[in-house]
Amino acid sequence: MSQPRVELALDARAELGEGPVWDAANERLVWVDIMAGRVHLFRPKAGECRTLAVGRPVGAAALRAGGGLILAVPEGFASLDVETGVVAPLAALPEPQPDRRMNDGKCDAAGRFWAGTMALDERAGGGALYRFDPGGQVTSIVPGVTVSNGLDWSLDGRHMYYVDSGSGRIDVFDWDLGAGLVSNRRPFVHFPAQAGVPDGLTVDAEGGVWVALWGGGAIHRYRPDSTLDRVFLMPVSHPTSCAFGGPDLRDLYVTTARIALSAEERARQPEAGSLFRVRPGVRGRPPNFFAA
Ligand code: CA
Repeated sequence: MSQPRVELALDARAELGEGPVWDAANERLVWVDIMAGRVHLFRPKAGECRTLAVGRPVGAAALRAGGGLILAVPEGFASLDVETGVVAPLAALPEPQPDRRMNDGKCDAAGRFWAGTMALDERAGGGALYRFDPGGQVTSIVPGVTVSNGLDWSLDGRHMYYVDSGSGRIDVFDWDLGAGLVSNRRPFVHFPAQAGVPDGLTVDAEGGVWVALWGGGAIHRYRPDSTLDRVFLMPVSHPTSCAFGGPDLRDLYVTTARIALSAEERARQPEAGSLFRVRPGVRGRPPNFFAA
């Protein structure tokens, strides 16, 4: 089967584009440039992108039920009023995080926000995956993480997929939605070093697991039984995450990075860091909202 065209959706050239999430009510893709501390609001229909500087690294953003966004920021969690640009702290992480920052995050079906940390020097470990409840409580759920990265839940609601990039794997947990707890962690897919490092992921409306391979220049789709179904080659080497969007939820948006590229590589990949789009013929699921 020939590969559908991967098109440049927005020539953004972010340093570390990440965290795409489709905001259907406003027909826009929310995504972040982590170290630049920027939240981008891209409206594909108008072809325009509004940028909000939040004054600190921003690992991930999610939609709030009451409007605006919730952000994973170095000290914990904060809200962003996208009309005024005002950032307001909501909760701090339970322990001090001197050499770490927040990374990828996503809301579950009960309206909690999950986001994890990573060491600034990526090999040090000491990161964790946290659960932030709408009531304001922050709980460390998965300790001992190197680079907390992509996560999403299976179609049947029984499993949570999770990437600690340092492991070179996607893992899967049993998932208890009512309690907001995970158990029975085991490997789902293991990536050899030459395939790249697993990064952000999303689960589509048929249960397929899409993962961006950092340094691997590709997006892979796995069936729920963990067999490889499809591979999309990217025009740049460092895709970071992916999410379905567009009016029919059939556009797969892929964020990418240029932060890891040498000057030579930047010259060879001038579009690195930009936002790409492909229509793979599968529908995505609408994202969950933070319930407070
Ligand atoms: Ca990531």
